[in-house]
Amino acid sequence: MKYFLVTFGCQMNKNDSERIAGFLNFLGMTRSAKAENSDLLIVNTCSVRQSAEDRVHGLVRNWSQLKAKKPDLTIAVTGCMPGRDKDGKLKSRLKGVDLYFPIHEMGVLSRWLGGADLGDYLELAPARTSRFQTFITIQTGCDNYCTYCVVPQARGREKNRPAKEIINEVKIAIENGAKEIILLGQVVNNYRDPDLPLPNLPLKKGEGDSFVDLLKELNKLAGLERLHFTAADPRYFSDAQIEALKLPKQVNYLHLPVQSGDNEILRKMNRQYTREQYIDLIKKIRQAKPSIAIGTDIIAGFCGETEKQFQNTVALYKECDFDISYTAMYSQRSGTAAARAFKDDVPRLEKKRRWQILQELMEETTYRKNQKYIGKTVSVLADKCEAGICSGNSSEMKLAQFAGAKNLIGKILDVKITSADVWVLKGEIILPLPNPPLIYEMSE
Ligand code: SF4
Repeated sequence: MKYFLVTFGCQMNKNDSERIAGFLNFLGMTRSAKAENSDLLIVNTCSVRQSAEDRVHGLVRNWSQLKAKKPDLTIAVTGCMPGRDKDGKLKSRLKGVDLYFPIHEMGVLSRWLGGADLGDYLELAPARTSRFQTFITIQTGCDNYCTYCVVPQARGREKNRPAKEIINEVKIAIENGAKEIILLGQVVNNYRDPDLPLPNLPLKKGEGDSFVDLLKELNKLAGLERLHFTAADPRYFSDAQIEALKLPKQVNYLHLPVQSGDNEILRKMNRQYTREQYIDLIKKIRQAKPSIAIGTDIIAGFCGETEKQFQNTVALYKECDFDISYTAMYSQRSGTAAARAFKDDVPRLEKKRRWQILQELMEETTYRKNQKYIGKTVSVLADKCEAGICSGNSSEMKLAQFAGAKNLIGKILDVKITSADVWVLKGEIILPLPNPPLIYEMSE
């Protein structure tokens, strides 16, 4: 039997799809590159924006046409859409779907295929898409209820995996060739090892931060060269976590979503920090690790956002001097607190204009910052080589390109940067110096 799997959304969804593929492969199914010659079509959905859900509707419409010609075909929909669809309204618009389940109910798929019920889906062995770079989910769900966000509905309450289970999965990934591990969680730095007793409050400085303890443990593992985590939340970023950014295997990059630079908008979003607190945190991080690259997420045109409030975001962007940003136009999601409490009243064209301004600011800033890499050496994990050009991410998560051959794939290389634009640093590999030649002194 063959299956065809499509994934929308974030790294967490991609990692979940690796588990789905691992499970189906374990059952003896093979992955197909085409829907037409498959027996099971499965889509792992994203609900963060309306456009992502619209794409799922389009895809399932095409699949149901295929099913009309091939009635034995099974169509399965999982991920965020079934997770948030408490009243079944989304499902009623998806015709021809046989299985519709949130990812943590993977047992539905197993039973359909004649298998047993499943325990925690996170215990399923993933079929990795990259040998050298491995995503490991350490936490699912979220308890924060930012007013615009569907994640708490779609993925439920925050649930952390035991540290020993995570460390074990990392060790297996390293044995299989992983050089870089990316820890995933919705509020990754709020991770707490569920096997530990609850700490006595108030915490003493540096005590009881299981996320830092986990980073320290993983930093000790031989064979692991780079460690990375996403997405961190400013409200939980402790001094101990700032210090942990200096651990030897941490990448030289931090992703820290800000969403808005205006206090009133942050309050309406229920982000629970102010612009001043966010800016202070960035300053502290840069003091601790001056060369670190920092990226962020921003929402343009949230409910009631005035021009002045938007300009506060522009000003914060300039002050924080981000290396990269991912800006989204606000998309109202049914069932969220923002949809109930506020009007989505910034016109689409205005959202687009604000998005464009932030995009241009990002490109200008990134270009300027990238110029500073010229003449410097960055450490790059080569993950692709085509027609004599290799590429991979530097430790700052900047795409770097250099001349080389396929045998470099999976290696961490020093690359001296010779030119840079917004999206790419170009350079040449610095080869390790050969042993110095022996010099014999001739006696007369
Ligand atoms: S922290 Fe906020 S934005 Fe992030 S997943 Fe939780 S509710 Fe959504």
